[in-house]
Amino acid sequence: MKDQNCAYCMREEKPELYQGFGYYVQELKVSSLYVFREQSHLGRCIVAYKDHVSEIVDLTPEERALFLEDVANVAQAIHAAFNPDKVNYGFYGDTGKHLHCHLCPKYKDGFEWGGVFQMNPHIDDKDNATLMKIAEKIKTHLK
Ligand SMILES: [Zn+2]
Repeated sequence: MKDQNCAYCMREEKPELYQGFGYYVQELKVSSLYVFREQSHLGRCIVAYKDHVSEIVDLTPEERALFLEDVANVAQAIHAAFNPDKVNYGFYGDTGKHLHCHLCPKYKDGFEWGGVFQMNPHIDDKDNATLMKIAEKIKTHLK
């Protein structure tokens, strides 16, 4: 079931909804991969579940396992591509209600190291050409 106002559900029909915050990369097992437009944390991505479900508890154990496999696949690709000191994970969605995970690479002595990453500080928004290069680096390490 698609939500007509949801950026993830309407990726093909209304690309303007997601292009403000992300760059679509590809499909994973049960998710879609986006590079986050705001790159204060180099390599930051979003993994969004294929269906419009709000909560991780709305998934069956099998669906949840596949979703977390997708998150882990992207995380290992971020580690391999950019060598962060830690990847932080954020499942927010107070208003969006479409299950997705922010994967936020953190670098020692870098922006927000040791603290909580902001939802979208808009300090370092990148153009699509730059995001495509980041996406290509991540894609070479996906399993
Ligand atoms: Zn949705």
